[in-house]
Amino acid sequence: MTNLEYYKLMYIRKNVSLARYSTMRLGGEAKYLTNIKDKSDIPHVLDWANERKLPVIMIGGGSNLIWSDKGFDGLVIVNKIIGYKVEKEDHEHSYVTIGSGEDWDKAVAKTVANKLHGIEALSLIPGTTGATPVQNVGAYGQEIADTLISVEAYDSHSKKFVVIPADQCGFGYRTSRFKTTDKGRFYITALCFRLYHKNPEPPFYPSLQTYIDTMNIKKFTPRIIREIVIAVRSSKLPDPKTVANNGSFFANPIISNTKFNALHKKYPHIPHWKLKDGKIKLSAAWLLEHAGFKNFHDVKTGMATWHKQPLVLVNEKAESTSDLLHFRNRIIKEVHTKFGVELEQEPELVEASQY
Ligand SMILES: Cc1cc2nc3c(=O)[nH]c(=O)nc-3n(C[C@H](O)[C@H](O)[C@H](O)COP(=O)(O)OP(=O)(O)OC[C@H]3O[C@@H](n4cnc5c(N)ncnc54)[C@H](O)[C@@H]3O)c2cc1C
Repeated sequence: MTNLEYYKLMYIRKNVSLARYSTMRLGGEAKYLTNIKDKSDIPHVLDWANERKLPVIMIGGGSNLIWSDKGFDGLVIVNKIIGYKVEKEDHEHSYVTIGSGEDWDKAVAKTVANKLHGIEALSLIPGTTGATPVQNVGAYGQEIADTLISVEAYDSHSKKFVVIPADQCGFGYRTSRFKTTDKGRFYITALCFRLYHKNPEPPFYPSLQTYIDTMNIKKFTPRIIREIVIAVRSSKLPDPKTVANNGSFFANPIISNTKFNALHKKYPHIPHWKLKDGKIKLSAAWLLEHAGFKNFHDVKTGMATWHKQPLVLVNEKAESTSDLLHFRNRIIKEVHTKFGVELEQEPELVEASQY
């Protein structure tokens, strides 16, 4: 077989380096890889993979995943399904459907240009629209679950396209059924949001509010909040186009009240947030910084922590995913030794056996 197969008008490439399909720019090869522009291609390409008993993963921009050095011994579907449509409007809301392969930030920009409020604080998050429900993407006080009405997807169990209402997506803090109980089952093709015609109102998320107070901003529209978010994010986070990274590498740990009380005694200034269920959320960035990983450059692995935000692990000169994992393990171990807190990795380390 050549390096290219042609199946029902789709090109399927063979032995493709996956490094450019992850913003961490590491990992082996995909046995097969194809781009999908039309949702009707999904059942065909899945049939093709099933006949060959291959695992299948659908990806967007690769900004929340890491490929192993072994690569992916199956079929990688790169989602390019576009579309943006205002379905209906009433005096309070607009219902907007967005194709899952649309660049997320461009989609947010469109809603903002239409003076719609609800996802403007999620500006500049890299990746595709279809990936946002997977980890219930969130930033600066907004998350997908707040405005999402439903997810359209191809269900590989029923072999049908389905519409899943948001309250059946199993959303939680940086999680959903798409990355837990139903991992790999659904191929997300579109999202429907209910956005507001009204303007956003204070109080805003603390780091936005600080910027607002410093700049003495008095008027708030979705466009103004988007501009503030872009300014705040750009001052702290590296652009994955120029610096290889996956954004926050660890989620903020959630611990019991008892465990927190013991930590608080030792570290009275430890930042924390009380959750509705009585548990306590800690700042993973603070834990890393106080475990000695502020602006930390590891010559051995070629990995580093970003100088403005230790939670962002940066691939400076790493040669393999194994280098990254060594660096990750060292951070997890040292944070655990110092604080007794287990860090949980946010980007997915893709294992073909899970698909
Ligand atoms: C600099 C930087 C900043 C970031 N900031 C934030 C932030 O503020 N908040 C936040 O929550 N995240 C953040 N992220 C993480 C990331 O951008 C988001 O998780 C984003 O939604 C991932 O989109 P993607 O298209 O790149 O997904 P990918 O990395 O390609 O995929 C991620 C997961 O979703 C699955 N998936 C993707 N598309 C589909 C689909 N159509 N159907 C089914 N499954 C699918 C994949 O199989 C994989 O499991 C940041 C990342 C970077 C690099």
